[in-house]
Amino acid sequence: MELVDIQDLKSWGSNAVPVQLRPRVHIDADGNPSVPLIDGHCHLDMVVERGLSADEITQGLEENGVVSLVEIGADKQAMLWARTLAHTACRFEVYYTIGHHPGEAATADAEFGLKFIDENKNDARFVAVGEIGLDYYYHKDQSEIQKKVFTDFVRAARRVNRGIAIHTREAHADTMEILRREAHGLKILIHCFTGNAQEMADFLSLGAFISFSGIVTFKNAAALQEAAKICPEERMLVETDAPFLAPVPFRGKVNQPGYVRHTLNFLAKLRGVEANTLAAQCVNNTHEFYSIV
Ligand SMILES: [Zn+2]
Repeated sequence: MELVDIQDLKSWGSNAVPVQLRPRVHIDADGNPSVPLIDGHCHLDMVVERGLSADEITQGLEENGVVSLVEIGADKQAMLWARTLAHTACRFEVYYTIGHHPGEAATADAEFGLKFIDENKNDARFVAVGEIGLDYYYHKDQSEIQKKVFTDFVRAARRVNRGIAIHTREAHADTMEILRREAHGLKILIHCFTGNAQEMADFLSLGAFISFSGIVTFKNAAALQEAAKICPEERMLVETDAPFLAPVPFRGKVNQPGYVRHTLNFLAKLRGVEANTLAAQCVNNTHEFYSIV
C-alpha cells in the first residue's frame, strides 16, 4: 500500500535525541519527581492542523513529563499518518490504532480500514482497533450503517488479536448490545467516557477499561465526576483526545497530549489519592489494554 501525500513528518524525527536519552523526570508543584505519563488517546494530525508545531507539542510533552502517546487512526488519512509517525518519531514513543470513526460510517470507505488492519497485524506499534462505535448525537439517522461498520471492526479486531477502543455518544443501549454480542473475550476500552455511574457499571461488567478525558475537569460534569470517584483504580486510564476537550485551565484552547497531566492531577485530587500513585496505575492500565510491553 502506498503512502499518500501526508504532512511532512521529518521534524518529528530529525535532529532529535532519542526519547530514552532525554531526562524523564518531571517535577510536580511540591518539588517531587512525577511518574512519567502516557496519553492514551490523541489525534496529533488534527493538533498540527490547528497550528501547533512539532516543537511546541514536544515541549508540552516534556514540560509535563509525558513520554508516550497513542495516536488514533480512525480514517484513511489518519491511519497512514499515525503509522508513519509511530515509526519516525524519536523524541517520544508513539503507538497507533486503526479504526473507523462512527461519524464517518456513512461517508467514508470502511473497507480501507479493514484491509489496513489485516495488513499491519504484525506491526508491534499497532496496538488496538479504534476508535470505533456509535454516535447518535450527531448521526442518529445513520444508526444502521454505524452498527454494521462497528460490528465489522470488532470482528477484525478479533482476527488480529487486538483490543477495541470505543467511541459511544448517546448510544449506550446499542453499544452495550453489540459489545455483549460481539466482543466476548476482547479487551475493551471506553474512550473519553462521559456517562454516569450506572453506565460505567454496565461497561465494567463487560470487563472494560474506562478512559477519562479533560471533560471530567469541567464544572458542569458532576455526574461524570461521581463516576470517576468510584471507578476501580485498576480500570482507569487518562487521555486528552487532543485537539478536543482541553482540560481546565486550558478549556477552549487547542488541546495537546502534554495536558493529560492536568486531567490526571484533577482525578487524583477528586479521589483523594497521590498523583503519582494514580499515574503509575493509569500507565499500567494503559499498557495492559494496549498490550504495550
Ligand atoms: Zn478520539
